[in-house]
Amino acid sequence: MDFDDIKDNIPFSSPVEPVKLTLDSEFQFDCHPGVSCFTACCRNINIQLTPYDIVRLKQRLELSSSDFVARYTVPFEMDHHGLPGLNLLTKSGTRECVFLADEGCSVYPNRPAACRYYAFGSMAVRPKDSAVVEDVFFLVKEPHCHGHEEQKKQTVREYRSAQGVDRYDDANREWRDVIIKKRSGGPTIGAPSERSMQLFDMCSYDMDSFREFVQTPGFCDLFEIGDAEMRSLLEDDEALLRFAMRFLKQTLFGERSIALREGARERRIEERREAWRKRRDAEVARHKAEKENLLREEQQQFRADAGDDDPG
Ligand code: SF4
Ligand code: SF4
Repeated sequence: MDFDDIKDNIPFSSPVEPVKLTLDSEFQFDCHPGVSCFTACCRNINIQLTPYDIVRLKQRLELSSSDFVARYTVPFEMDHHGLPGLNLLTKSGTRECVFLADEGCSVYPNRPAACRYYAFGSMAVRPKDSAVVEDVFFLVKEPHCHGHEEQKKQTVREYRSAQGVDRYDDANREWRDVIIKKRSGGPTIGAPSERSMQLFDMCSYDMDSFREFVQTPGFCDLFEIGDAEMRSLLEDDEALLRFAMRFLKQTLFGERSIALREGARERRIEERREAWRKRRDAEVARHKAEKENLLREEQQQFRADAGDDDPG
């Protein structure tokens, strides 16, 4: 699909300007505390958070990932299978961002990717007759935003660099790939199990729990992780997030990039078999005990009835 194929379908009232821009396109825009609309865009938000947004914000606020999620996000379902997503919290009864303060954004150096992107939309498209997917950009001109009237000219590349967008895109790329695969992976992957949803949730939004998980004996017995790599997973949230995406892809789609310990797969299969045998034996024993109880009760009842009928 090409951008030109869909631009005519953009509703006429849309703030999206249907002009395809590339990284080298120049445009006119600026945003600074002196603009008359300063923070207007933060007063009517609907911001979906990415895993890297959460890493940066929880570091900024010195919170654990689970505390950050509990205090500053609102869960929603990203698709009809209930794929978990998180929106940034707004102040009670308003659409105003919870981090908006009198002087502006209180978390500005760690603001989410969506805030950095503002004034731009982007999409990945595959031009006709090409196997290569390319990013195209388009301006979003909302009536309240007067930044487009400012005189500053810059290329899309310069704007993205100034906003620090590339780092966010790099950190979130694999996550977006997981979502696309989950949505388009056919019936098995398209209707994921409860367990796979929980794994997605932890790997996407809860790096502190995932860090505990990679230290569990079960995980260490299964995966071959070198000392240096384990140290970086324990110390570096970004390295841990990248590893979490590899783990998700391996677990959900069988894309093997984390080495298993020798014989680990066979041991796991044997452990599962053993657990299954134990469960089955326990079931058989429970059925047997129930039957014996029933038989005993019937015999007692029979004796009691026989005693009642005894004329002596
Ligand atoms: S995080 Fe900051 S920039 Fe983003 S909407 Fe909230 S206040 Fe505005
Ligand atoms: S509305 Fe536009 S110009 Fe105004 S603060 Fe937001 S991004 Fe900047």
